Amino acid sequence: MDSPEILKNIIRRERKARKMAEQWLEKKSLELYLANEQLKGMNESLEEKILARTKEIEASKEALLVEKDKAEAATRAKSEFLSNMSHEIRTPLNAIMGLTDLILQDSRDDVAVEYSSSIKYSAENLLHIINEILDFSKIEAGKITFEEIDFDLGKVCKGLEDTFRHKAEEKSLVFVIEQDRRIPQIVNGDPVKLNQILINLIGNAFKFTDEGFVRVSLKWEKQEGKHFDLLVRVEDSGIGIPKAKQGDIFQTFTQANNSTTRLYGGTGLGLAITRKLVELQRGKIWLESEEGVGTSFSFRIPMREGIPIETKEIANNKRKEASLKDLKVLVVEDIAVNRFLMKQILKRKQIRGDFAVNGREAIEILSEQTYDLVLMDLHMPEIDGWKATEIIRSQDSPVLNHEVPIIALTADAFEETKSKVLKAGMDGFLPKPVDIHQLYDTLIDLFAD
Ligand code: ADP
Repeated sequence: MDSPEILKNIIRRERKARKMAEQWLEKKSLELYLANEQLKGMNESLEEKILARTKEIEASKEALLVEKDKAEAATRAKSEFLSNMSHEIRTPLNAIMGLTDLILQDSRDDVAVEYSSSIKYSAENLLHIINEILDFSKIEAGKITFEEIDFDLGKVCKGLEDTFRHKAEEKSLVFVIEQDRRIPQIVNGDPVKLNQILINLIGNAFKFTDEGFVRVSLKWEKQEGKHFDLLVRVEDSGIGIPKAKQGDIFQTFTQANNSTTRLYGGTGLGLAITRKLVELQRGKIWLESEEGVGTSFSFRIPMREGIPIETKEIANNKRKEASLKDLKVLVVEDIAVNRFLMKQILKRKQIRGDFAVNGREAIEILSEQTYDLVLMDLHMPEIDGWKATEIIRSQDSPVLNHEVPIIALTADAFEETKSKVLKAGMDGFLPKPVDIHQLYDTLIDLFAD
């Protein structure tokens, strides 16, 4: 072939090849375009999906917030309801316990004393149940707080011995409290809660033991510096707890067997509260028990050595009590039987008591006379204790002494009430049912020199 022919052939081939390449390129770019479109579509739907999901999450977050608010409102309502209920139940109980105390102190009639002792015992039980329900609801609402104060652990033990001595004699049980010598005399922690834990455990030990002993031992375990662990064991030779029940005995409303309530009474709340009180102090509680042999509950709580305080012994309590004589006290109380009870309590110490049936009457009396002290009920008709205090403390009111000490006296035993009382300008707080000795002690603290 001559060369032009060859050249033409080459050009033709190349054209063909280029055409094919162009066609391939076109096809590929179409494919690419389609793939791109598809990807775009997918991307858009993905964005839509993400948007929808985000909306869903936000909606459920909002719903959750609404539910949280509802739950919080329900807890608040429950707390308030319990506070009101406790007030309603404690008010008549206050009268029952106080008047029974007076009969027990005054009566020379054996039958009356015997009946009164039973009434007192039942009323104390009822009060214990109300307190347990209140405590439990406080724990549930996260409203329980712990103090860190110096206190004498020996005194706590002595108090427990006094509390349970009678029970031990009644059931002919040996009751001992052993304290490790290494425990410092003054420790730092919450004495009220420690006492409550011990009373629950020792109370149970007595309740479920008919023969033998109840032994309490307190041990010291060194931690860093001034810190130590208090290890307490409450042991009894009672009925024991079946192995199968030991795991859930700390749950609320749990009792080891169904006949327990019938035989021994109780709400099944005591151990649940006890466990919470230990754990909220970063402690631990456990038990060992064998049916028919006995039970031991042990707990460990971290504590700190306290600073020994110069204890000013009450040299002459009689003299101090004598200084209460002729005090002039105004009792503001709307319930007649409580006024009657207060009158008897004050009369015993020769304290002069006047009475107002509500805040309004109290203001009128305080505008005409001065008093050494006002004992103020909180829930009252017309003008309640809160409002009355506000008026007494206000310089614009006609009250003669705006600084008169005011002690709130209320059946509402919530801890918040106590701090609210101080914030409202009152000087102290006494829970009802009134403990006669606590009332005298408060007066001695205020007035004895
Ligand atoms: P309750 O108020 O019913 O006593 P607790 O929570 O204090 O409630 O105790 C729950 C249950 O644990 C009791 O009902 C009892 O069956 C069992 N229990 C507690 N302590 C002892 C003990 N020391 N010996 C035998 N059983 C006990």
